[in-house]
Formats: sequence, structure tokens, C-alpha cells
Amino acid sequence: MIIQLDPAISEEAKAKITDTLGQLKFKGTEVKTQMGDYLVCIGKTNIDIRQLGFLPGIIDIHKVSDDYKLVSRKWKVNSTKIDLGDGVVIGDGSFSIMAGPCSIEGEENVRATIKHLKENGVNIMRGGVFKPRSSPYSFRGMGIDGLKMWYNIAREEGIKIVTEVMQVSQIEEMYPYVDVFQVGARNTQNFNLLDELGKVDKAVMIKRGISGTIEELLYSAEYVFSGGNEKLILCERGIRTYEKASRNTLDLNAVPILKDKTHLPVVVDPSHGIGIRDYVDSMSLAAVMAGADGVIFEIHPLPEKAASDGQQTLDFQQSAALIRKMKKTYTLREEFEMAV
Ligand code: PEP
Ligand code: MN
Repeated sequence: MIIQLDPAISEEAKAKITDTLGQLKFKGTEVKTQMGDYLVCIGKTNIDIRQLGFLPGIIDIHKVSDDYKLVSRKWKVNSTKIDLGDGVVIGDGSFSIMAGPCSIEGEENVRATIKHLKENGVNIMRGGVFKPRSSPYSFRGMGIDGLKMWYNIAREEGIKIVTEVMQVSQIEEMYPYVDVFQVGARNTQNFNLLDELGKVDKAVMIKRGISGTIEELLYSAEYVFSGGNEKLILCERGIRTYEKASRNTLDLNAVPILKDKTHLPVVVDPSHGIGIRDYVDSMSLAAVMAGADGVIFEIHPLPEKAASDGQQTLDFQQSAALIRKMKKTYTLREEFEMAV
């Protein structure tokens, strides 16, 4: 059960609600987000909410039986839109395209990538400056100086930045230069990081854990949301299975399931999802038709020279063709949706 509180509620009224909840064998946790104040309550399910509804300081009460509550569509029916500013919105019914190198490698690469993105009508760029690498000897990113360099160029060109934050101590130094904090698949259940991102007033994109279930992804989102930040995006990026023919198994089942279970936008990462350049196209188009709100994929002027993940990275020509195909496919999806 979620109780939506009047932001101007008195301490006395709050105490009265807590007291009544106790009598009804419920435990309430107060959640203050940047958009609203709530009491998230755990207890028996067969309660008549009219037993509470008359109390002062309550705006509304919602019964939500899922264990994740604030991210559930049972609590909020309408899809959440993530406004990144300057007219860039994710989850507003349009299809968002985000692309960029696996790792930020230098100014020349950033400028070339931004030029390509702008020529193709894309205004959100991905790229890692703190890279989680399986081997400690692999390239681990340009760090904060790389982010500042990227930011200076991106701001000039009107491009938004999605980049991975790996640990709590990086949030503050990254904050001024980031539009969307990415939580990587290796950090989906780093609950300290999720708690801290709950306090930030910028968007957060949480990737599904390498061996994480859909439900666990929703719990991770609930951490950030209940920490105070409602600007959340979920990303399906493939999971580890027994299949060895691809890097990961892109679980497109997750798209309609998540779209049904949560009001948050859902994007797909076909690059990490399949891990093979030649098949990124197919999976991107499948993601469009599966109902995703967007796609995030890896590009590089010379993929075979990329500092990381070159094997799954598209060159600019392939990227331009994919963007065209995705836009066309999205028009088809809209037609199908209209026809129903
Ligand atoms: C990435 O996006 O560069 C990345 C490392 O992704 P993931 O966390 O999904 O492996
Ligand atoms: Mn990568």
C-alpha cells in the first residue's frame, strides 16, 4: 500500500497515521522524492483503505500488492517521462536513440561521433570514462578529465551525456557533467550506489544485472526511487545463459514484461546484448517491435581500433543505416498500435 502525503502535513497528523497503521498491523516507511512524499506500507493485503482514508494529511491511498511498489504500474498507471532538458525526453511515446563509443577515447573521437550523431538526428551520446573491465589490464577509461573534455564539446553541440558511474565516491565529481548516470550490469545490486543515486536530481539508467532477474532489476529501481529520485530508466542488456554463440542472451521478453509491470521507460542495449557487430541491427529492430522506449548502442569511427568492445561496435555507415531502419520500424510499430 502507498499513502500519498500532503507535502504540508503536520508532525501530529503523521504520527496519527503511523499509529493507525500500527493498529492495522502495517509498517510504513516515509519516502520523500523530488516529486512527492509517500508512506510505503507493508502489511496484510486484505485491508479496506477507507479505514485510513479519512485521516488528515493524506492525499490518496493506493493498494499495491507487488513487493516493489513505487516503480509498479499498479501505483502509477501513466508512463513516466524523463525530461533531460532542451526538448530531449525519454519515454514520452517517441523512440529514443542513444549511441556512442564503448569508451571515451579522446577529443577527435568525441568530435567525430557527435558530428555523426547530429547528422543523423540523435541527441544523446553514450560513452564510458570509468570502465568496468573483466581484466584489470584492459583499458579502464579516461576518468574525470575525459568526461570534462567530452562535456565541453557535447554542451557546445547540444548533445546529452549518458555515462557509467561505478562507485559512490564518483557521483559528486561527475555530477556537473552528466545528464544520465548509468548503473552498469556489474553494479545493478550495488545497493549503496543505488541509495546515493536516489539523492541525485539527475536521471539514472539502471542496466539489468548479468545474472539478474527482471524482478531484481525492479527492486534495484525501487532503491533509487525510494531514495528520492523518480527519474529512472531501465535497460535490458542481455543476461548470462548457457548459450555460447553470443556474448550474452538479449532477453527481449523483458521488454513487454517490464512495460507491463512498471511505469518507467525501458530501453534495450543490443550491443552488449548480443555482442556481435553483424547482429546488432536485427536485435535493435526486434527491440523496436518489442515495445522498447529506445535503444542504446555502440559506435566508433574505426571499430577494429576501438579501445574496448570493438567486436560489437558499428562504424558510422552501419550506424546511419541502423538509425534509418529503426525510425522506419518505429513508424510501422505506431501503425500497428493504431490499427488495434
Ligand atoms: C557499457 O555500457 O559500456 C557497459 C559496460 O555495459 P554493461 O554494464 O551492460 O556491461
Ligand atoms: Mn561496451
